[in-house]
Amino acid sequence: MKPFAYHRADAADQAVKQAAHANARYLGGGTNLVDLMREGIEQPDVLVDITALPHEISRTSEGGLRIDGATRNTAVAANLEIRREFPLLSRAILAGASAQIRNMATVAGNLMQRTRCAYFYDQAAACNKRVPGSGCDAAGGFNRMHAILGASADCVATHPSDMCVALAALDATVHLCSEDGDRAVPLVEFHRLPGEHPERDTVLREGELITAVSIPAAPGHTRSSYRKVRDRASYAFALVSVAAVVGLSTDGTINHVRVAWGGVAHKPWRATRLEAELLGKPLTTDAIAQAIELELQAAVPLSDNAFKLPLLQRTTAAVLAELAGGAL
Ligand SMILES: Cc1cc2nc3c(=O)[nH]c(=O)nc-3n(C[C@H](O)[C@H](O)[C@H](O)COP(=O)(O)OP(=O)(O)OC[C@H]3O[C@@H](n4cnc5c(N)ncnc54)[C@H](O)[C@@H]3O)c2cc1C
Repeated sequence: MKPFAYHRADAADQAVKQAAHANARYLGGGTNLVDLMREGIEQPDVLVDITALPHEISRTSEGGLRIDGATRNTAVAANLEIRREFPLLSRAILAGASAQIRNMATVAGNLMQRTRCAYFYDQAAACNKRVPGSGCDAAGGFNRMHAILGASADCVATHPSDMCVALAALDATVHLCSEDGDRAVPLVEFHRLPGEHPERDTVLREGELITAVSIPAAPGHTRSSYRKVRDRASYAFALVSVAAVVGLSTDGTINHVRVAWGGVAHKPWRATRLEAELLGKPLTTDAIAQAIELELQAAVPLSDNAFKLPLLQRTTAAVLAELAGGAL
């Protein structure tokens, strides 16, 4: 392993100063970064350990929740307010990794975890995400786990997080700080589609620190769910996953709908066309099928993953039917 300097920060401004180096990385739980360093895929000169930074879950003045970046995944999933108000977030986290990994992993680290594309981890393979300009062996290779939406000629990798899919459906915001000041980015704009620069997963700038994620108060009378379909019952990344929040008026029409998909794109995929199609309509089997079809018009399956289309269709329909409260 390449030698690196190690600093431990007690506060965000101290962390940002310690990371003011072209090749510095923040160290959360280390469950992804340390693996990548062992493989030689990440070779930082400086590691700034931020696990001593605040890790609280607190109420915002607008009635939502703010989760500090260093909060462990287990603490978020177990938090009573989250389980009561945003149960899909708790479910999504518990659907990921293992108990031991979730005990170590942080919210910010989960947002920043790299793809699980096997060609990204294989130094002998061409991967534009690992070595820009080297090509993409996944596009013509074994691409069963890869993207069907928003991919580019340069990259067909998917974003692996479960938590982020739930956060996308919850209209979450990512809070950042750097030596230039603070800023906030909607979660749906935080992760990027690959385009010609798949080496950049997010809009995070060099040296910027994720300080927190906030979730607005849940609109009244909404129900939510998260469902993940994978090859094993646990300890496997998503083939597809669906996070949904739905509110129904007393006459049965939809007055609030958010749907996000995981395992299908380079970022959590907010199904905005599906949402627009459903809003204001009764939540019927036909309306759901039509809206899903509309969203999937943009899908381009690869040689090994066309199965994701019907899988995603059925999973989304099942989740929305569940949220209709058995009325379908
Ligand atoms: C075997 C295995 C199975 C897994 N299965 C799943 C799964 O099914 N679903 C799922 O969602 N996840 C899964 N994971 C991923 C796991 O959730 C991530 O490894 C974890 O969330 C990363 O968190 P961490 O705190 O350990 O990040 P680290 O490894 O410490 O860091 C990851 C990245 O985030 C950056 N970073 C960390 N904190 C900050 C910050 N505050 N600001 C800016 N950058 C920061 C680091 O520099 C690094 O680039 C799995 C992991 C393993 C090892």
